[in-house]
Amino acid sequence: MPAVSGSRLRARLERLARFGGLPGGGVTRSCWSPPHEEARAWLLGEIRAAGLQAWVDPAGNVFGGLGTATFDQARPVVLTGSHIDTVPEGGMLDGALGVIAGLECLQAVHESGTAPARPLAVAAWSDEEGRYGSLFGSRAFCGLLDTARIPEMASVDGERLVDAMARAGFEAARAPEARAPAGAVAAYVELHIEQGARLEEGGVQIGNVEVIVGVRRTRVVFHGQADHAGTTPMERRRDAFLGAADFALRARELVVAEGSGRSVTNFGVVQVHPGASNIVPGRAELVHEMRDPEAAVLEALARKTAALAQEVARGRALSVELRPMSATLPAPCSPRVQAAVDDACTALGLSCRRLYSAAGHDAQNLAQVTDAGMVFVPSQGGRSHRVDESSDWADLERGARVLLHTLLALAR
Ligand SMILES: [Zn+2]
Repeated sequence: MPAVSGSRLRARLERLARFGGLPGGGVTRSCWSPPHEEARAWLLGEIRAAGLQAWVDPAGNVFGGLGTATFDQARPVVLTGSHIDTVPEGGMLDGALGVIAGLECLQAVHESGTAPARPLAVAAWSDEEGRYGSLFGSRAFCGLLDTARIPEMASVDGERLVDAMARAGFEAARAPEARAPAGAVAAYVELHIEQGARLEEGGVQIGNVEVIVGVRRTRVVFHGQADHAGTTPMERRRDAFLGAADFALRARELVVAEGSGRSVTNFGVVQVHPGASNIVPGRAELVHEMRDPEAAVLEALARKTAALAQEVARGRALSVELRPMSATLPAPCSPRVQAAVDDACTALGLSCRRLYSAAGHDAQNLAQVTDAGMVFVPSQGGRSHRVDESSDWADLERGARVLLHTLLALAR
């Protein structure tokens, strides 16, 4: 029976954390950046050294295969994976865990000499964190890339995807060729840190994900009248910023009061025009994000917040425009994969809880083309997307053991 090596898992996670490692801890390793490309080369070397097949597709996804070196509908693979890119000043486990644990599982199976009925593969999906386009690699693999947008895709600081990929030796226009043939993936399961505190607070060892939240983003633009900030009497002002601020506060209250209890909302981008201290703001733009595991809840909240924006605008003699930016539907995980994860926990004597993922993951794209699921391990203090992101080594090893058990069950 194959068994994961906790010491090898830890050694590889610590090694990977040195690519883009920051002096005070944490990692900055954006996709296509030099540290990311060094990490990619290292990972390919580790895959080969483990006795597995290694390859890279035109979207920059890295694969390791046991019993396969390609995706072919004649021999569907059981696939695992995650990502090796990080957010700026991120942690060493987000994404890295799923890739390194996947590699460890395949190596353990290879070394044990057992031959599962289906081939196994591990993926490191490119640009999961969305420096140039969120979940880029898994989108390409699942045929969900908006190909027409590739030439204009760019990071917040304006670097084009086309140029970033070229620097790393890839041709962005060819990324859609990464699409896997229909039926080539028999199942997908991704191990990830929870990035929240539910498991730790509940004293539960393993999370079995039922659904990944849907996310709606809308640009909300309030139009007022730019005026002299000294000479215009207060009662005559049509201040677009105050409309935006009023809306943000009231939309938050609405989502808390009328959402599902799991609904969350954020205003992470705010722009005021013309943006001078001596001019009453004539225009204010917000990016309004809402998340919930249920599509109907998101739909209802979108309707109510849109009505609220109109009400706020009317009350302040402003006008408002709502421009939908993106709407990702919640992605339910497959009952078959969830059952395999439950069985693995029972067999290993680990406590397990069903939960939803409040963050987006590559698994949501895979869920559109195959039976997909996710395994979570506790995050200390729920901390993630920060340099002090951490989990107990014992919890990480437990997650890898659940992953191995689940992969073998799905490959039977
Ligand atoms: Zn991640």
